Amino acid sequence: MRPPLCFVCGLSPRDLPEGDDSASAFTLVHFALDVQERAAQEARDRDGWVGHPENAEWFCAAHADAARAHAHLHWREALAALASRGDG
Ligand SMILES: [Zn+2]
Repeated sequence: MRPPLCFVCGLSPRDLPEGDDSASAFTLVHFALDVQERAAQEARDRDGWVGHPENAEWFCAAHADAARAHAHLHWREALAALASRGDG
């Protein structure tokens, strides 16, 4: 699993002021997988794979709501839509 880093704006807990506990505000959002990807991921899980799933990304507090609003979409589509938002 990767450390928190907002997919939209690139904010990470290290960018926050010392003592700021906003790190807890970072949210890992899972997006939809297609059938083949889901099967592959379940196979990896059975093998004890502990990497970062392709359909999960971190979002800061400012972008978590937008990310959740896209969570029903396939991850490629969702991330493309979120990336095009830029830092807004
Ligand atoms: Zn962000």
